[in-house]
Amino acid sequence: MKQSTLFPKTRKEAPKDAESINHKLLVRAGFIDQLMAGSWTLLPLGWRVVTKINQIIREEMNAIGGQEMLMPLLHPKEIWKETGRWDKAEEILYKLKDTRDKEYALSFTHEEIVMDLLRKNITSYQDLPVYVYHFSTKFRNEPRARSGILRGREFMMKDLYSAHTSEEDLMKYYEIVMGAYSKVFNRLGFNFRITEAAGGVFTDKYTHEFQVLSDTGEDEILYCDSCDWSQNKEIFSGDRGNPCQKCGKGKIIQAKSIEVGNIFPLGKWYAEKMGVNFTGEDGSKKPVWFGSYGIGPTRVLGTLVEVNHDDKGIIWKKEVAPFDVHLLDIRTRDKAQSAKKIDDSLQNEGIEVLWDDRDVSAGEKFAEADLIGIPVRLVISEKTGDKIEWKERISDKAELLTLDEIISKLHNGD
Ligand code: ATP
Ligand code: MG
Repeated sequence: MKQSTLFPKTRKEAPKDAESINHKLLVRAGFIDQLMAGSWTLLPLGWRVVTKINQIIREEMNAIGGQEMLMPLLHPKEIWKETGRWDKAEEILYKLKDTRDKEYALSFTHEEIVMDLLRKNITSYQDLPVYVYHFSTKFRNEPRARSGILRGREFMMKDLYSAHTSEEDLMKYYEIVMGAYSKVFNRLGFNFRITEAAGGVFTDKYTHEFQVLSDTGEDEILYCDSCDWSQNKEIFSGDRGNPCQKCGKGKIIQAKSIEVGNIFPLGKWYAEKMGVNFTGEDGSKKPVWFGSYGIGPTRVLGTLVEVNHDDKGIIWKKEVAPFDVHLLDIRTRDKAQSAKKIDDSLQNEGIEVLWDDRDVSAGEKFAEADLIGIPVRLVISEKTGDKIEWKERISDKAELLTLDEIISKLHNGD
């Protein structure tokens, strides 16, 4: 893509009210725009990254049998009354009335909707288990929406739901989802801890949060420096000075973190409230066992920036970068022809190119390339001759390579 056509242009200054790093850098580099507190547009660059994050999540959900679908966002009041969450979740639930005084909720999650689907479609144990998920918007009336795109009042979530004939089957799948989530967050390059936590308005039972270690995080966790034990500070009741209660050796570290995922073994509560039953092998009617599992792709976008940046701008990992390479033509004469050829050849190889074809100074092009943060920068200048300069965003070292060498380097991923 030609950078001269990219919407919008980058900005020199961050918005005055921006407090967090992801807010400042993502807005300056042209990835997101704030409509009002907690409400964001994913601009073309931001949408490219979120699409890649979603694809990683989708692959891992499909690998554990998840079936993708799409549920509505406008829900009738009655369905939320069935579980009592119309009142229980009042603080975060957006409620609205139409001109005929009918009341609705804007979705803050979808357990009730999935339960209704199961109620209409499940009769016997042979219809279970069910694994369904979707990517969609969630609305929550968040009291503090100050951490940039980490906390929206309207944000994107991938939520998976599973229904089972027994607690044993639910817990077996819960472990499988935990593994799939770990794969997602490893592919995203996060340093994370799977952390025991409370269930909020979802369940009285424990849940597991996926917490990315980051000094800018709003959450605090305690974790063992030698085994996998970790608890959210909200539920921790031990003594910080003592060795780890699980392995007996490790030291307990307290650290700030960002919650990027949360899984909930919800049990029978929802099925009992909503009358979602199946006929067992023995002929008796039983409530289904239920679990839900969420990841916030837009929060992941912001978290990637919080943990991968420097004073010049964002540093994308190649798995989620908006483009594979940033091609900068900084010649003042003989322009365009050979850059276009390079752009075409790379694209023919399936490589995504952002080609800075604009008439601006070399200094400006370099600064913007660092701000946008595409992992590989390719420069053609008066000095590069028939070669091209290759420089990675994470390194200061540049080297001169032929186009063929560049293509094979990009394909081999080294
Ligand atoms: P928090 O404690 O940060 O408010 P939560 O525990 O209420 O989040 P969950 O209901 O567990 O959130 O939602 C599942 C996932 O959705 C979270 O792990 C996070 O990635 C994402 N998420 C939740 N709230 C928001 C939000 N306001 N903005 C963006 N992403 C969010
Ligand atoms: Mg949570």
